[in-house]
Amino acid sequence: MSTYPQTSNYIAGKPGVGTGAEQSVIDPFTGEVIWTYRADDASTVGAAVQAAAAAYPEWSGATPADRSGALTALAVELSSVAEELAQTETAQTGKPIRLSREFDVPGSIDNVSFFAGAARHLDGHASGEYSGDHTSTIRRESLGVVGSIAPWNYPLQMAAWKVLPAIAAGNTIVLKPAENTPLTTLLLAEACSRAGIPAGVVNIVNGPGPDTGQTLVTDPALSMMSFTGSTAVGRHIAGLAAANGTRLHLELGGKAPFVVFDDADLEAAVRGAVAGSLINSGQDCTAATRAYVHRSLFDDFVDGVTDLMRRVRLGAPADPETDQGPLVSFRQRDRVASMVERALRDGAKAVSGGQAPGDDLADGAYYEPTLLVDADQRSEIVQQEAFGPVLVALPFDRDDEGIELANDVPFGLAASAWTRDVFRAQAAARRIEAGTVWINDHIPIISEMPHGGMKASGYGKDMSSYSFDEYTQIKHVMSDITAEAAKPWHTTVFAHAEQR
Ligand code: NAD
Repeated sequence: MSTYPQTSNYIAGKPGVGTGAEQSVIDPFTGEVIWTYRADDASTVGAAVQAAAAAYPEWSGATPADRSGALTALAVELSSVAEELAQTETAQTGKPIRLSREFDVPGSIDNVSFFAGAARHLDGHASGEYSGDHTSTIRRESLGVVGSIAPWNYPLQMAAWKVLPAIAAGNTIVLKPAENTPLTTLLLAEACSRAGIPAGVVNIVNGPGPDTGQTLVTDPALSMMSFTGSTAVGRHIAGLAAANGTRLHLELGGKAPFVVFDDADLEAAVRGAVAGSLINSGQDCTAATRAYVHRSLFDDFVDGVTDLMRRVRLGAPADPETDQGPLVSFRQRDRVASMVERALRDGAKAVSGGQAPGDDLADGAYYEPTLLVDADQRSEIVQQEAFGPVLVALPFDRDDEGIELANDVPFGLAASAWTRDVFRAQAAARRIEAGTVWINDHIPIISEMPHGGMKASGYGKDMSSYSFDEYTQIKHVMSDITAEAAKPWHTTVFAHAEQR
C-alpha cells in the first residue's frame, strides 16, 4: 500500500489529486479496499488534454532518435521497478504473481523496447516521378493529442499498448485506465518522467467510464481516440467520437474458437485448451472460449480437459504456487456465475466447475475452471463473452462445419486451429474470421506482430509497426520538377487563354 502512488492523475509530468466522487480499488482476494482516490472531473480532463497539446509541438518535432532514446530509457526504468509493478498488478487485479512476473510486466517492457526501435523507421512508399513532371513523396506524420481508454484485465500491458505506438510516432496522449485498476498505469507515468520523457507527453486521468471517460472522448481537441474494452462501450464511444469527427481505433470483445481437427495431437490440444481458456482466469479477450472438436476425438478431449482443469491450483494471488487467482472483482465473478447458471438452465452440462469454490476461497472473487458441454450453438454462452474461466466444448463432423461454427458468432478477434495437416491448417487460417489465427497453439503474442479484431471485435491494430497506421496520417507531397510556368494540364482549364 505504501508503495502505491498517492495520486489520481498524472498531468504535465506531475501527480495530482482529483476532485470528483471517491473511488475504491479493491483486492479481489480479500475484498479489502487497498486504495482510494477522487475521480478526475471535466476540468482535470481538460487540463490533461491541454498539457498534451502544449507538449505536442516539441515532442512531434523531436528526432526519431531522440524519441527512441527516451523510450529506451523508459524500458530501463520499468525494468528497475519490475517487481513493484508485478506486485501492484497482482494486488489490484487478483492475477497470480507468476502471471504478472512472467507475462504482464516483461511483455510490457518488451513492448517499450520494440517501439524504441520502431520509432526510428516508419514505412512508406518509394518517392517517384509518377506524373513525369513531379516528384511525389510520402510523409507519415503524427496526429496530435491522442485520447485513450483501457480495460482492467491487463492494466499495465493495455496502457503500454496504447501509450507506446502513440508517442513513438510523435503524438502526445491522455490515457484513462479502468477505474478499478489505475495503479500500474500511474507507476508507468512516473517511470516516463524518470526516463526523461518530457512533461505532458504522457498524461493519465482516472475515474468511471461514463464520467471521466466520456468527458475525454468528447474533448474536441483530441485528434484521435483509441479504445480497448467491451463491444457495447466501444460502439457507444464510436457514436460520441463521430459527433466531433474524431478518428477512432477500437479493440473490442472476443469469443475465440479453438478448432480441433481429427488428426490433431490430442495431448497438445488438451493442454492448449486449458492454458488458453484459463489464462488470467479467462479474462483475456483472446482466451479460448469455444472448443469445436471433431466427434472422433470429442470424448477424449472432454476427459483430458476435465482432468487437467481439476489439477489447476486455485489460491492466493501472491503465492507463486497459485495457478489461478480470483476474478478481478466480485461483480465480474457474479456476472460469469449467472451466465453459466443460464447456460445450465438452457440445457448445457458442467463436466468441470460451474460454480464458485467454497471453503477457504469463499472470501475471494473466485470461480472454478469450468468446462461445459451440450450447449446450443445459438445460446448465450456460445455467442457472448463470459470473460471468465469458462470453456464450452461442442463436437463437429466435417471440416467445413467446424470452420462455419467457428465463424458463427458476432466476434472476430482471435482463433486457433489444431491439426498436423499443413493444408488443413492453411485453409483454417484463411477461412476463420479473426485478427489472429494460431496453428497448434493459442494465446502467445509478440510485440513485432499486430493484435486487433474483425467484425464486432473492432478495427485497427495494437503492437507492431502496423499500429503506426492508426497513430500517423499520410501526407502526399507533389513537387513540380519542370520549372515551367505553363503546365500541360493547364489547357484543361484555359485552353485558349494564350490566343485571346
Ligand atoms: P468496459 O468496456 O466496461 O470498460 C473499458 C473502459 O471503458 C474502462 O476504462 C471504462 O471505464 C471505460 N468506459 C466504460 N463506459 C464508458 C463510457 N460510457 N464512456 C467512456 N469510457 C467508458 O470493458 P472492461 O469490462 O473494462 O474490459 C473487458 C472488455 O474489454 C471485454 O469485452 C474484453 O474482451 C475487452 N478487451 C478487448 C481487448 C482487445 O484487444 N480487443 C483487450 C482487452 C480487453
